[in-house]
Amino acid sequence: MNLVYRFLQIFMVSFIVNIKLFWAFPVENGVYPLNRLGRLLIKPFPAIENLQSDLYEVFMEPYGYELKPISAVASFSSQCDSPIKGDMMFMQMQPPTGPVFIQGNVTGLSAKKHGLHIHEFGDVRNNCQDLGAHFNPYFLPHGSPSSPIRHIGDLGNIEGKEDDVANFKLVDSLMSLVGPRSVVGRALVITSEEDDLGKYSTPESMTIGSSGKPIACAIISYMN
Ligand SMILES: [Zn+2]
Repeated sequence: MNLVYRFLQIFMVSFIVNIKLFWAFPVENGVYPLNRLGRLLIKPFPAIENLQSDLYEVFMEPYGYELKPISAVASFSSQCDSPIKGDMMFMQMQPPTGPVFIQGNVTGLSAKKHGLHIHEFGDVRNNCQDLGAHFNPYFLPHGSPSSPIRHIGDLGNIEGKEDDVANFKLVDSLMSLVGPRSVVGRALVITSEEDDLGKYSTPESMTIGSSGKPIACAIISYMN
């Protein structure tokens, strides 16, 4: 029964609204009381200062799917024959809307920058070929991890070092580990070339940052 309740909670309390559907009355982000039903939390997306998006996420109480921190891991060591090994940890202290802390290290990369992205699908069976596009639930162009206008899956670059460990660290406010922006079950991918962060007007730059082919991939999985 508990499991059924959790399932309903996850799939019913959070949904994405295109505010154009609600043109007849004004909606602003904030917390709204609903008498005995609890409260409604409305958040604009992406959360950009001085810019009003027409996309909102609406959460109805209880909107803490898990009130405790959630962790996930993507392990490059276990999925394929690639010489690239390492783990990338994801931690969200305040799900579902708090930032996600990403940290990890990777060995076996050539000494240059390589693109690091989250793709839509976590099916890593076919040598990283069946992973879909960069995870992009809001249909935005490819971009830098420091820009709110980007694919949620755009994590920028990881810099390989000669015979050494490549470290990566990022605090991300766009992704989540639960709900419609969740990256869990999707694939973390390292590419052959540097991501140009969408700076150029070529189709390659605007979709994958001209970052070449996947050279390693791993499923992002919940941790106990
Ligand atoms: Zn992208």
